[in-house]
Amino acid sequence: MTHARHVVVIGGGVSGLTTALTVLADSPEPVSVTVLDAQPSVGGLIRTSPFAGLPAVDEGADAFLTRVPWATQLASELGLGAALTSPTGAHAYVWHNGMHTIPGDLLLGVPAKVRSFASTRLLSPKGKARAAIEPLLPRTTPKDSIGHYVRRRFGNEVHERLVDPLVGSIYAADTDNFSLAAVPQIAALTSERSMLIAAGKARKNASANANSSLPIFGSPLKGMGALIETLAERVVAVGGTIRTSETVESIERHGSHYNVHTTNHTLQCDAIAVASPAKKSAAFIHTVDSHAASLLKQWDHASVVLVSLAVPATQWPSHLTGSGYLVPKPDQRWVTAASFGSNKWAHWRPTDGSMIVRVSLGRDGLDVMHFDNEKLLNLALADMKLHINADLTPTEVRTSRWAESFPQYRPHHFERLEEIEKSLRAKAPGIVFAGASYRGIGIPACVQQARAAGESLISHLASLTQ
Ligand SMILES: Cc1cc2nc3c(=O)[nH]c(=O)nc-3n(C[C@H](O)[C@H](O)[C@H](O)COP(=O)(O)OP(=O)(O)OC[C@H]3O[C@@H](n4cnc5c(N)ncnc54)[C@H](O)[C@@H]3O)c2cc1C
Repeated sequence: MTHARHVVVIGGGVSGLTTALTVLADSPEPVSVTVLDAQPSVGGLIRTSPFAGLPAVDEGADAFLTRVPWATQLASELGLGAALTSPTGAHAYVWHNGMHTIPGDLLLGVPAKVRSFASTRLLSPKGKARAAIEPLLPRTTPKDSIGHYVRRRFGNEVHERLVDPLVGSIYAADTDNFSLAAVPQIAALTSERSMLIAAGKARKNASANANSSLPIFGSPLKGMGALIETLAERVVAVGGTIRTSETVESIERHGSHYNVHTTNHTLQCDAIAVASPAKKSAAFIHTVDSHAASLLKQWDHASVVLVSLAVPATQWPSHLTGSGYLVPKPDQRWVTAASFGSNKWAHWRPTDGSMIVRVSLGRDGLDVMHFDNEKLLNLALADMKLHINADLTPTEVRTSRWAESFPQYRPHHFERLEEIEKSLRAKAPGIVFAGASYRGIGIPACVQQARAAGESLISHLASLTQ
């Protein structure tokens, strides 16, 4: 007689919960799954709460990419398909001594046509002339740094005012110190001699795709928190157990079993998914693989603060109809971006006509976590005064601190990850990773990794019975 196998999932963010669901739903053999999370509630970096009289305004992620299938598929599987909405289509700006609409024909900031930058005043005539010669330049040998490659191809202005702000806004990154391979849309453009020509082809292929008329982003109408809530409910409904306020402190291997020690308990299991951030995971991986742990410990994670404001309609400059703006690094003081939520989302419009603005402060190399909330608000308002030339006196303020929330994919990220996984396979088979620190930070990439991790755990369990 074989006993039901037990899988422990460390981390109850979207990655951990999806891994748990995958194992429970797809395992051909009986299996029990326990999700452990250090926090009093699941969701990790995803949180939605009431704000400005609205029932659900996201405190972190507010949309997922729908051009790749994983998050949309998960939402449909959870019955949220019909409850998805998409942004209004309002355009975004880059602030550089004034607001500039982000030009069209870009691929994550990389120009796909000369006309992408020919008429914008975001670039100087010299910057445009430098960018225009890109197709004539000899091939650049890629180093694993976005900044290194893009600066060489298009010059500093395209990098600093387009590519770095757009990529940096997704990863809170300094793209001069960020892996090119970790941003596949940009890495794919290095296969040809000219990045501009490659970007042109990539955009053409994308628009030839039948789905190109569909929105690029989606979100549940009740906010991203609804995804987590429904996911956690489903995990429990299919037999999973979720235990919160349980910090994993160490793992011990005993032959083909593991003991997982938390602050409160010890759980025995046959396989483990590590769906917690790299640096935090180093502590408990250390007891099974000190080499893997020493590499995980080196991971940098950037912190950001998101200050949400409800601004009276009368104070809002009427010409600012866009979805928000990004601030290039050389122009940054503290604010790196601001999202004009009520322009971006039709369901984020308070009945009194206020504008909901979500202001981002901090990134890799720009720490803001030491400021108290009052100081953060003052910094946000002072920067916005400079950017939009308006004195804002918000009627409601919410400060969401996201400490060490953005893992930084330093150059040669994937080589390091491979070394960790190889070492773990040898010393601790049946332990797999899924989550933002590892193979993609966006929600779809987290779901994709979680699916793969779940399948790999199922294969491991099958190998134990053979
Ligand atoms: C401000 C902000 C805005 C974002 N915007 C977007 C967006 O618009 N679109 C998008 O796609 N993505 C966005 N992201 C990124 C995305 O939200 C995250 O990458 C994703 O939610 C990470 O999920 P995860 O499950 O991998 O990790 P996490 O959500 O970090 O979950 C990990 C969990 O592990 C737990 N944990 C840690 N250590 C231990 C331990 N020792 N024992 C037990 N549990 C432990 C933590 O408590 C946590 O709950 C944003 C992120 C932030 C911070």
